[in-house]
Amino acid sequence: MKAIIDRDECTGCEECVEVCPVGAIEMEDDVAVVGDDCDLCGMCVDECPVEAITMPRKEVAEEAVFSDYRGVWVFCEQVAGEIARVGFELLGAGRSLADKLGQNLTAVLLGHGLKDEAQRLFSFGADEVIYVDHPALSHFNDESYSKVLINLIKERKPDIILAGASSIGRSFIPRVAAGVQTGLTADCTELDIGDEDRLLYQTRPAFGGNVMATILCPHTRPQMATVRSRVMKPLAPDESRQGQVEVVNPDETWLESRVEVVEVVRETKETANLADAEVIVTGGRGLGTPDKFEMLEELASLLGGAVGASRAAVDAGWMPYAHQVGQTGKTVSPKLYIALGVSGAIQHLVGMQSSDNILAINKDPDAPIFNVATIGVVEDLFDVVPALIEKIKAEKRG
Ligand SMILES: Cc1cc2nc3c(=O)[nH]c(=O)nc-3n(C[C@H](O)[C@H](O)[C@H](O)COP(=O)(O)OP(=O)(O)OC[C@H]3O[C@@H](n4cnc5c(N)ncnc54)[C@H](O)[C@@H]3O)c2cc1C
Repeated sequence: MKAIIDRDECTGCEECVEVCPVGAIEMEDDVAVVGDDCDLCGMCVDECPVEAITMPRKEVAEEAVFSDYRGVWVFCEQVAGEIARVGFELLGAGRSLADKLGQNLTAVLLGHGLKDEAQRLFSFGADEVIYVDHPALSHFNDESYSKVLINLIKERKPDIILAGASSIGRSFIPRVAAGVQTGLTADCTELDIGDEDRLLYQTRPAFGGNVMATILCPHTRPQMATVRSRVMKPLAPDESRQGQVEVVNPDETWLESRVEVVEVVRETKETANLADAEVIVTGGRGLGTPDKFEMLEELASLLGGAVGASRAAVDAGWMPYAHQVGQTGKTVSPKLYIALGVSGAIQHLVGMQSSDNILAINKDPDAPIFNVATIGVVEDLFDVVPALIEKIKAEKRG
């Protein structure tokens, strides 16, 4: 499929030729003509001053061939040769979707020299592993990664594709969805299969997080969703699960890119290490003043953990943004999450509700944080936390 030009409307201004990022438009007899390289980005549609260009739309009638689309795919991203945690988490989620559908779960890995890493994906739930191996895929590259995935999808027709809502996923997965003319639900917090329609139910916060919306993709395939790291849980690795990695040598045309990765530099700047912390002590507006975070820092350091903050605390300037937990902050899943003076607004909950254990201390018995808490304490935090700190210190001394 490619952009459609209305020859009668085209004035030959050539603006679409200049704006096309892949050089797919040429002039013939003073009329613009779209070539096969068109990747349906739509930039020419926006640029055309006489609205002579439109995007093709799939007809609903194509639903008849949906039965050709089978299998759940998980795109497992790697950085510097190491598979990111979100890939393992999505294999866990993908496993239950595939089981409900009675279909295979396939892990897709792009990189170079990563056969052993690819093999590990079986133990995390994959039935099949497709590993596209080429030096040009060592480091993430928007254009080549998109083309590889688009071509694989066109060849093999998966029913569902899951990917991380990470910097990498956010960057190229929308391009892949556009390339295969399907929908994409970003930042899902829950995924399920409909009992009757067998569609992927993709739930995510909507309207600024004030409602949870469940989104379906009934008219096109594949059904595509991204999920942030730490929202889903990986399966415990099962080393008895083994298989044969399918190594794919990509077509050279899939690797063409205008981008060259010159160097990859590991970030060394210290940031709030919430993602890896096993204990997080989070403070909200209920703390009242910024100096009260010192008490939280003391508790966190006694427990070997890190300090988090609600958006209200961050907006008030009490803590830097790097500590914010929630929809517009970090998504975390520690062994223990302690919420102090945090009401539990939905935008906060989506960032921490998959924690193993949640201890909430709040004066208000109706605070929504108690709906997700493992242990809820309806008390003034300034009575409980100093006593808790003293108790832990005494335990450590004894
Ligand atoms: C688009 C959008 C994105 C957002 N993203 C985020 C996000 O990423 N993260 C986030 O946190 N929020 C986010 N929010 C904001 C969110 O809606 C809430 O406003 C925010 O989480 C409230 O923070 P809080 O719980 O600290 O404050 P409040 O809601 O004011 O709650 C304070 C709580 O402290 C309790 N309290 C007061 N004093 C004490 C005491 N002495 N002892 C015990 N308890 C006490 C109160 O009972 C109350 O429940 C977002 C909002 C929008 C619209």
